[in-house]
Amino acid sequence: SFTVAIVGRPNVGKSTLFNRLVGKKLALVDDTPGVTRDRRPGEAKLIDLRFHIIDTPGLEQAGPDTLEGRMRAQTEIAIDEADLALFVVDAKLGLTPIDQELAELVRRRGKPVVLVANKAEAKGSDGGFYDAYTLGLGEPCPISAEHGQGMIDLRDAIVEAIGEERAFPPKVDEAVTNVSIPLPASEDEEEDEEPVYDETKPLRVAIIGRPNAGKSTLINRFLGEDRLLTGPEAGITRDSISVEWDWRGRTIRMFDTAGMRRKARVQEKLEKLSVADSLRSIRFAETVVIVFDATIPFEKQDLQLVDLVLREGRAAVIAFNKWDLVEDPQELLADLREKTERLLPQARGIRAVPISGQTGYSLDKLMQSVIDTDKVWNRRVSTARLNRWLDAVQTQHPPPAVSGRRLKLKYMTQVKARPPAFMISCTRPESVPESYIRYLTNGIRADFDIPGVPIRIHLKTGD
Ligand code: GDP
Repeated sequence: SFTVAIVGRPNVGKSTLFNRLVGKKLALVDDTPGVTRDRRPGEAKLIDLRFHIIDTPGLEQAGPDTLEGRMRAQTEIAIDEADLALFVVDAKLGLTPIDQELAELVRRRGKPVVLVANKAEAKGSDGGFYDAYTLGLGEPCPISAEHGQGMIDLRDAIVEAIGEERAFPPKVDEAVTNVSIPLPASEDEEEDEEPVYDETKPLRVAIIGRPNAGKSTLINRFLGEDRLLTGPEAGITRDSISVEWDWRGRTIRMFDTAGMRRKARVQEKLEKLSVADSLRSIRFAETVVIVFDATIPFEKQDLQLVDLVLREGRAAVIAFNKWDLVEDPQELLADLREKTERLLPQARGIRAVPISGQTGYSLDKLMQSVIDTDKVWNRRVSTARLNRWLDAVQTQHPPPAVSGRRLKLKYMTQVKARPPAFMISCTRPESVPESYIRYLTNGIRADFDIPGVPIRIHLKTGD
């Protein structure tokens, strides 16, 4: 197992995160009044990860004269005891000089770091999130420790920082038979190369839709006899399990709620759409399949669900289900595609596949679309290509002049994937009109082939 240190300045939410990872009860036992501790150990559980954790609390109470020195010392000790540091900042309040100073200290220790942008559920936390990039600790992972949001992304970031092998140490008998030979490093790797999509990682898929759209039928069709229960997924919800199946060699992991399982047994005809359940599934997933009933498509709730998926930053695919009931499939498909483009402009180019969960029609095509969309969601475009593009689009359609001065977009880079987010520096970010940002978003979507995935653009001042 490995050890993680939670570090950061006071009040960014370290203890809340500690409590969430360790479980409230355990943390309470440790909170004996009168006992001041500078480092608090615990055993953390995060989805399928288990690790030792060290919090650095207590600094909140230190006097101002001793605070900085102690904070620095405690942070250093905690990091030295750990294999990985979670550096927590407050995305709501933004960065302070102390954050910068501690980040510098963390960077100098040379340990793997996951930068955590906490309080990301708060309105106006976007600015703080993007500022966090300036700490030089890599891509921030947005979470809400208080509300338990972003825990899956945090899990992924930790696994990536520490490596699969350390995150999931093989059991002793496996270790003997499972000797891996390290691959030689490739020699002609370019600096700015776009990374290769990892086909070996399990893909987390959620299936959502209005009641009676055919979710349960579809899921049962997918799982068939191979239905494999992988046991409880801690940290998501008490009564949820994840199920896995293989599609052409790719592991597909699905989040199966208790509601779904009940549903499979008892048909509740008057069931209402549970947005909370949908949201839980969406947050679990990387790609979300939104099941429409092709015989009653584009109900308000269908549109709301697609919007919800994109707002949560997930990749989306639409399945037009019950296609076996459709009389004139060609005509209906053309009509549905036209409606998709018109009613869901924010999802331009989204993959929409006619299927039948009942007969199994076209499910391979649906799964191929899911994987293709996940690739797009993971895509990274090199800075060189983006800046060539930025020049070209500005020549073609220059940004408007505001009070006699022409706006100039200077530099562009992709700050993260999953979903793709871009930062553009320009002279006066606040005066770039919405319509021009939409023009850029649509251009990126079309020119870099990013359909069915939310695209985020952040403008910042730069010279
Ligand atoms: P859920 O509420 O979204 O889970 O929907 P169910 O899977 O329970 O399906 C609702 C109803 O639609 C059931 O009566 C299913 O038999 C029916 N159904 C589901 N998928 C299909 C399909 O592809 N074709 C047809 N003809 N009926 C379907």
